[in-house]
Amino acid sequence: MRFDDRLDPLLEEIAEKIINCTRCPLAEGRINAVPGEGPQHASMMFIGEAPGAKEDETGRPFVGQSGQLMTDIMKDVGIAREEVFITSILKCRPPENRNPDPDEVRACAPFVLAQLDSISPIVTVTLGNAAYDLFSSTFYLPKRKVGEVHGKVFRLHSTGARYLMPTYHPAGLLYNRKLIPEFRKDLETALKYLGMRP
Ligand code: SF4
Repeated sequence: MRFDDRLDPLLEEIAEKIINCTRCPLAEGRINAVPGEGPQHASMMFIGEAPGAKEDETGRPFVGQSGQLMTDIMKDVGIAREEVFITSILKCRPPENRNPDPDEVRACAPFVLAQLDSISPIVTVTLGNAAYDLFSSTFYLPKRKVGEVHGKVFRLHSTGARYLMPTYHPAGLLYNRKLIPEFRKDLETALKYLGMRP
């Protein structure tokens, strides 16, 4: 995998806009907005649903229990967390970690799409149903639940990003540990596509 930790003004500009954003009511309850983190030229991008309590507290993505589990599994399959860009479709925490409201997703989606364009990763991994729903609508992918499409790799034609693969959200793995082997297998599949440039 490529590793480049140069700071690109564009990603920084997007982060700045997120930190100051008041486009939806979630701005009122946040401690911190969570723009995401990782190198500008990451080959892989991971996109979850929304920040939780720990993320809201720290302003960093996937730093709670499920984030730690994901980081461990990534490491096991050979993906270094510091080499990928990690973010979510909502940048502010919904109260009590409730599901994202469609209006909130609509308001926030331009940020994650701008990040995708800016980074232009080879492989984008969506984590959970909410992230896949946004990307399946945006890129005309099959409308399915993650349980049905996880591990399938789709070509994206209308963006600099090349492949998208949905998989489970790591929070789901904490409740159903039987999904961990499938999640691991999905990450191995995504990793294979890093070497394939369309
Ligand atoms: S969730 Fe997104 S749209 Fe809503 S305030 Fe936060 S950054 Fe803005």
